Amino acid sequence: MHLVIIGNGITGVSCALAVRRLRPGARITLVSAESAHHYSRTALMYVYMGHMRLSDIKPYEDWFWDENRLGLVYATATALNTAEQLVVLNNGTTLRYDALLLATGSESKLGGWPGQHLAGVQGLYGLPDLEAMARDTHGISRGVVVGGGLIGVELAEMLHSRGIEPVVLVREARYWASVLPPEEAHLVDRQFQENRVPVRYHTELREVLGDAQGRVRAVLTTAGEEIACQWVGLAIGVTPNLSLARMGGIDTDRGILVDELLRTSAAQVYAAGDCAQHRQPAAGEVPIEQLWYTGRLQGETVAHTICGQPTRYRRGIWFNSAKFFNLEYQTYGRAPAGPVAGMDHFYWEHPSGRAALRVYFQAAPPHAVAGFNALGLRLRQDVCQQWIRNHTPVAAVMAELGAANFDPEFFPQHEQALVAAFNRQFPQQPVVLKRRKGLRALFG
Ligand SMILES: Cc1cc2nc3c(=O)[nH]c(=O)nc-3n(C[C@H](O)[C@H](O)[C@H](O)COP(=O)(O)OP(=O)(O)OC[C@H]3O[C@@H](n4cnc5c(N)ncnc54)[C@H](O)[C@@H]3O)c2cc1C
Repeated sequence: MHLVIIGNGITGVSCALAVRRLRPGARITLVSAESAHHYSRTALMYVYMGHMRLSDIKPYEDWFWDENRLGLVYATATALNTAEQLVVLNNGTTLRYDALLLATGSESKLGGWPGQHLAGVQGLYGLPDLEAMARDTHGISRGVVVGGGLIGVELAEMLHSRGIEPVVLVREARYWASVLPPEEAHLVDRQFQENRVPVRYHTELREVLGDAQGRVRAVLTTAGEEIACQWVGLAIGVTPNLSLARMGGIDTDRGILVDELLRTSAAQVYAAGDCAQHRQPAAGEVPIEQLWYTGRLQGETVAHTICGQPTRYRRGIWFNSAKFFNLEYQTYGRAPAGPVAGMDHFYWEHPSGRAALRVYFQAAPPHAVAGFNALGLRLRQDVCQQWIRNHTPVAAVMAELGAANFDPEFFPQHEQALVAAFNRQFPQQPVVLKRRKGLRALFG
């Protein structure tokens, strides 16, 4: 069997490694337009910030691929003929496949603003963007970041690390309003304030203004403000990369349409990761998942089907994590930004404003726990997911909260306060703190 994979991101590589395990004799070719070797996209910011070199964000040494008989082709796939099972590359090669995985990832959304073509205006998705950003922000004093989401805060932190003032434009009334409840968003806002990053809420980009050389010199906002700057980062989201799928006549919508086995509309062609759109997502799940761990999971799942062991994709319990300057964030399960019928929540915030915990649970007895938001404290993924999976009553979760804790100091210090706050908010289901033996031995 010859498996051709387009894209050497986490999805493509996870599939390749799983197929190598399942079918030691398979021929596997990974094609990538972006880089000769796989790297961790999530760590791009640390390269700009000087914490890591490019070579540090490659999870595998360069010899690894030959050693595992994984063929790497550094080229762009420019045409796809699904009837003949052929992929054409821009280096003149044609690859015949028995199975093809489209793991083509996403592209930055650009928004269509006047002036966005000017030099010094860009998104951040891959290595060419990183190079452009390093070049165009060299020696500048101010950059404007458009977008109040995860990439927006990353861009702000990246500029800040090089002594460049970032000004952030956020369309909504608060940071990441579609995901974070107001209290959590407020803690992120404190990070912006402490790092002296000006944020304009309720403000959108209207136009990017250029100088005589065709470089950005300012932005004009919907509030009528002109902000002088020498660079603009557009961080308004990403969209699945559909070019090759469309060239091959494969069914697409916002993403490449796949069934639960991650099969596309063409025989022997699969799609997974950021570029895939599930035709029938499970209840409560989204059709397009643009996360590192879901890419890995989809890549590993589709490998089984490709190897003749049809396996349905099941995402499992939602998980995400990020860092907003110095504030770590984790979320598990259902953690909506606003009120949801039938769901209640408990919220606790440390007086310093540097840590918070929100626990979501069903309003009806037995008040099964449904999700968590943690800021500034780290929870153990396996414990949280088990509680959610087992529909553990929130009172039991609160009584055992320290079991989910990673930080050896935090919970022993604050669990009394947490439980007292819970009992004040929910006196009808009082929690008695369980004494855990050897907590320090467990986590210390
Ligand atoms: C800056 C940044 C930070 C992020 N941080 C996080 C995070 O903290 N946590 C998290 O969960 N997620 C994060 N994400 C999202 C996460 O990185 C993606 O969900 C994940 O990388 C998608 O993996 P993928 O393999 O599906 O696609 P990609 O990693 O996009 O890989 C697809 C590859 O296919 C190549 N390709 C496309 N078309 C062709 C073609 N025709 N020919 C050849 N090659 C082609 C592309 O060049 C690309 O290299 C972040 C994303 C970005 C951009």
